[in-house]
Amino acid sequence: THFGFQTVNKNDKESMVKEVFDNVSSSYDLMNDVMSMGIHRLWKDELISTLNPTPGSHLLDVAGGTGDISFRFLEKIKQSPYYLPAIGANPPKNTSLPSSATVFDINQSMLDQGKKRGILNGYNETTDPSIDWVQGNSENLPFKDETFNCYTVSFGIRNCTNVDQVLKEAHRVLKKGGRFLCLEFSQIPNPALRYMYDTYSFNVIPVMGQLVVGDRDSYQYLVESIRKFPDQETFADMMRDAGFQQVTYKNLSFGICAIHSGWKL
Ligand code: SAM
Repeated sequence: THFGFQTVNKNDKESMVKEVFDNVSSSYDLMNDVMSMGIHRLWKDELISTLNPTPGSHLLDVAGGTGDISFRFLEKIKQSPYYLPAIGANPPKNTSLPSSATVFDINQSMLDQGKKRGILNGYNETTDPSIDWVQGNSENLPFKDETFNCYTVSFGIRNCTNVDQVLKEAHRVLKKGGRFLCLEFSQIPNPALRYMYDTYSFNVIPVMGQLVVGDRDSYQYLVESIRKFPDQETFADMMRDAGFQQVTYKNLSFGICAIHSGWKL
């Protein structure tokens, strides 16, 4: 297809990915629910449960899009036994260690959608220091070495042109003791299940894209990018090559997705 990026150069892939997410940004959250039948919410909850952040955590959420992971992260911190809710003060004064989430994405229109959602959910960048939205490329992060103690990338790394460089940058901006977590579509090990899933994704998802938001090509690209992403073991090796230690992964929904974890030690 014209989105088959194995034969295109770096700039072409970047501009295609930009075009895809420009096209889908306003319908992105709706389509995630439609395509995954809402299951993406459980996968994202699992990512944040795995991270289990406590007050004082500073997250860089790369390819953060409309903020799904960052909002969950900030909410999870409020459920931590170490979180001290504001009592009695007016305006409420947060006595916990300050925490923050930086939503980082190459696509300003995705960030703009997320900012709107943030305001509806009580996270307004201009009045709330716990969240900010930064536009840029994950292959060249505009942050100093050892800035964050958590790094997440959810359904984003397969869209990047140079995955090794993304991992290198992730390792650079994490503090020692910091954790990298990646939630991404992966490869289903069971051949029969893989066949059923491939049939569903190749035939149904582009048609749904056409029916629900009138855009078949963008969803065709998304399906193809899933197939081209490395399997669980290969990605774990790429993480080790970038310097991460204690690399592990767990499959979700029979391996439709996997969460990879690694530490900077
Ligand atoms: N993390 C969000 C989630 O789980 O819902 C959004 C995932 S969305 C499928 C992929 C995101 O990756 C898009 O918002 C896209 O703009 C972003 N992206 C693609 N290439 C990127 C790059 N090189 N650097 C930063 N973000 C990128």
